[in-house]
Amino acid sequence: MIERIAQILCELISIESISSNSNLDIVAYIERILASSGVSSRRVPSPDGCKASLLATIGPVDRPGVVLSAHTDVVPVEGQAWTVPPFAGVIRDERVYGRGATDMKGFLAVVLAAVPRFKEATTAAPLHLAFSYDEEVGCRGAPDLVCALMQSVVPPVLAIVGEPTTMRVVRAHKGKVARRLTVTGRTGHSAMPHRAANAVDAGVAIAHALRGFADEEVARGGDAAFDPPYTTIHVGSLHGGSMVNLVPERAVLEYEIRTMPGRDAGEILARVDEVVARERDRLRASAPEADIVSEELSAYPGLDTAADASMTRLVAEMAGDTQPATTVAFGTEAGLYAEAGIPTLVCGPGDMARGHKADEWIGFDELAAANVMMDRLADLLRRPSEEWIRVS
Ligand SMILES: [Zn+2]
Repeated sequence: MIERIAQILCELISIESISSNSNLDIVAYIERILASSGVSSRRVPSPDGCKASLLATIGPVDRPGVVLSAHTDVVPVEGQAWTVPPFAGVIRDERVYGRGATDMKGFLAVVLAAVPRFKEATTAAPLHLAFSYDEEVGCRGAPDLVCALMQSVVPPVLAIVGEPTTMRVVRAHKGKVARRLTVTGRTGHSAMPHRAANAVDAGVAIAHALRGFADEEVARGGDAAFDPPYTTIHVGSLHGGSMVNLVPERAVLEYEIRTMPGRDAGEILARVDEVVARERDRLRASAPEADIVSEELSAYPGLDTAADASMTRLVAEMAGDTQPATTVAFGTEAGLYAEAGIPTLVCGPGDMARGHKADEWIGFDELAAANVMMDRLADLLRRPSEEWIRVS
């Protein structure tokens, strides 16, 4: 089985599904693998049609089942010192090297290799496969995918997002919102700033307010299960101005909020919007054409599944994880499934510490461990979900 998984993984790696590219080639490849086992699937296209998520159900659609979630895109390799070709799928010393090996084509390969087993096992409960696009650039594909899933099937009782967690069961992570503010003022000679509107000044005032909000979140505290144990707010970039004797007419500021589960990002965003409105008014006092435009760059909700939830224990059994369910610093699509009402856990092979880096790899032993989880999942699907919810 490991040879089959490694073969699929190498083929997945060789399709350069970087988020900036179309992912339709990798979608077509997955469709072919599913079709070879008699599993039909449907695409959930992106608004521009250049990308698609893929949705497939194996087993009875009219019963509650399990979702396995993966993303098809990978991050770029530019500027990284790779010692193996990143898009070849190189096998060396029982490891598969290549972009996406760990994040998260390894899990995808394990799932695809198990499709014949799922086809045979899903007699009492269905398995839904949900593969998204653009996860790496802010979970852009998953909202429509989750929506399409919920519209077409009986609500699933469990979703497993196979991001690399070294097969530990992850029950919670923070949510995230990232925005860009583009400030347009009015340029002018620096000797006569009263006839101009300084865009950098406005940007700095907003950045200063954001720091104040960040300090308040630290004081508010939170849950020691997270590192750091509070909601974070930070300015990632602030650009503007070109020379000292010219009032800058443009500034661009990008900021990010990473919320603790249960903390409402909307409340913080509303306060930021108040500051933005105040600064816009200040600029317009001297330049009526001035403006500050806010755009959302990415947003996804946090995940907060209970440590003692029956599904948390069930996934721990399947993954062979005997330690208490944990939390991670990185975000995933899991919060979107949870938001749709599906108990959701993150658990998959590989280590995120190796993700997004040069010479990304995954071990045969890690793929084999995930494959054992697929075997256990297949066994589970032979029984109706009411039974496993009750037993666990
Ligand atoms: Zn990932």
